[in-house]
Amino acid sequence: MQRIHFLTRFRRACVILALGALVAQAALTASARPPHTLDTPHPLDTPHTSHTSHTSHTSHTSHTSDTPDTPDKPPPARAIPILVYHRFAATAKDAMTVRTATFEGHLRTIAQAGFEVVPLAAALTWYAGDDAAVPAHAVAICVDDGHRSVHDVLQPLLRARTTPLPVTLFIYPSAISNASYAMTWDQLRALRQDGAYAIESHTYWHPNFHTERAHRDAAGYRAFVLAQLEKARARIHAETGSPATLLAWPFGIHDRQLEAFAAEAGHTAAFSLDARPLTRAAPVMALPRYLITDACGNACMQQILHRAERNDD
Ligand SMILES: [Zn+2]
Repeated sequence: MQRIHFLTRFRRACVILALGALVAQAALTASARPPHTLDTPHPLDTPHTSHTSHTSHTSHTSHTSDTPDTPDKPPPARAIPILVYHRFAATAKDAMTVRTATFEGHLRTIAQAGFEVVPLAAALTWYAGDDAAVPAHAVAICVDDGHRSVHDVLQPLLRARTTPLPVTLFIYPSAISNASYAMTWDQLRALRQDGAYAIESHTYWHPNFHTERAHRDAAGYRAFVLAQLEKARARIHAETGSPATLLAWPFGIHDRQLEAFAAEAGHTAAFSLDARPLTRAAPVMALPRYLITDACGNACMQQILHRAERNDD
C-alpha cells in the first residue's frame, strides 16, 4: 500500500511539473512574439495616410507629399519653435532691427531644414492635442510692437514670395496711429484683409508690470493690469475686427498672478520670450517664443529648428 501511494503521488507530481512546463513554454512563446503582431493597431492605416497626403492640397499635408511611398506615417510634430521679430530694415539700426538679408536667410534655412511656417493659430490647435493641425516640422512667426517696418518692409518682402507666409502681429493700441514709429489702424486693417496677418494684443501701452507693481497696492495693481489687458482687446476688436484673444507679455514679463489676470481678461493663451520650442507641457498663459535679433544668423536658426526636432525640453 505504501508503495502504491508513493507511486500515485509521484505520478501526480510528474503531471503537475509537466503542466507547469507547458504554461511556462506558452508564456515564453507569447513574450517572444514580435510586438507588432499584438500591438500595431492597423498597418493598413499607413498607405491610406500616404495616399491622402499625396493627393491633398492642404498646407498641413504638403510636407509629406513628396514621399508618398514611405511605408511609415510621418510622426506628428513634437515641438514647434515660435519666432519673434520686431523691426525690419535693409541695414541694422539697433538691436531689435533684423536686416532683410538676415530674415530672408532665416526663411531659406527654415525651408532647407524641411520646416513649414504655419499660422500661430494652427500651432495652438496642435498644442491643444490635434496632431493633424501642423506638419511634422512646423515653425510659427510673430512680430511684436506694430512697428511701421512691418507695413513698409516686411509686407512687400513677403508679397514677392510665391507662397503666402502667415504672420501674427502683437500690437499695443496706444502707439497705433499715434507714435511716429508705429503703423496706423488703416495699415493694420489692410494687413488683416491681406489674409496672411493675424492681429493680437501686446497690452494697451506696453508697461513693465514689475515696475508698475512696485508703486501700487494689490487692488491698484490688479485694476491696472486688467485695464491694460481689457482696453487693448476692446480697441483692437473695434479697430480691426480681431477678437484679440491672444496676448504677448510686454518684455516677456509674466508670473502666476499676471497669467491669472490674462485669463480673467478673456485671453485664451499668452506668450513669453522664454527661448524654448512650444511643447504641450508649456503653461497656456506662458507659451515660449524665441526673441530673434540680427545677431541670430543661419547657424543660430538651424540650432533653434534642431532643438525642436530633438524636443529634449
Ligand atoms: Zn514688445
